[in-house]
Amino acid sequence: MSTGKTLNITQNLHEYLLSVSLSEPEVLLQLRQETANHSRANMQVAPEQGQFLALLVKLINAKKTLEVGVFTGYSSLSVALALPPDGKIIACDVSEEFTSVARRYWEKAGVADKIDLLLAPGTESLQYLLSQGQAETFDFAFIDADKENYYSYYESALKLVRPGGLIAIDNVLWSGRVIQPEVEDSATVAIREFNSKLSQDDRIDLSLIAIADGLTLARKR
Ligand code: CA
Repeated sequence: MSTGKTLNITQNLHEYLLSVSLSEPEVLLQLRQETANHSRANMQVAPEQGQFLALLVKLINAKKTLEVGVFTGYSSLSVALALPPDGKIIACDVSEEFTSVARRYWEKAGVADKIDLLLAPGTESLQYLLSQGQAETFDFAFIDADKENYYSYYESALKLVRPGGLIAIDNVLWSGRVIQPEVEDSATVAIREFNSKLSQDDRIDLSLIAIADGLTLARKR
């Protein structure tokens, strides 16, 4: 079962990649299987991507992280399992329905005390965190919410992470629609503009990773 795969890689090679690299905790597998039946299942991050986020969090010794766009919780649970016992995730989402699944799995995995859920529009939640004096207190941020607001989320996240902190942004290849000029819906246009702006942004060190549906990594200078 693969999700969110955009890369032009054969199914057999992708299965091989997973067979020699994926080490998915049982609770994440259960969550992925439950979410696969969901009508918006394509919003779930791929398992190899969850594992990659967990690796990044460990590499930078992250303790305090931010997530914008929780859905049913696969990425937040991946990160929470990688954080030290005193680690913390501030998770932002607008959907009570989707995050009720996430909260159930956070409990099941024993990491619920690491995660504070803010149920409000992401732009408001990020402004709230800034108004609470939390600028430059986060080590890591993952942005995976409504694409029209990506740049706004990014600007706020850039204020909230410390110098040397990392922001990861999902779906930046958008199933290849970024290079289809006839596709002009608001989400696609927003992602194209987002990618273009980041490529010129001298406040960050940038890399766009061709994993799943494209993942941009931006390290705050
Ligand atoms: Ca996504």
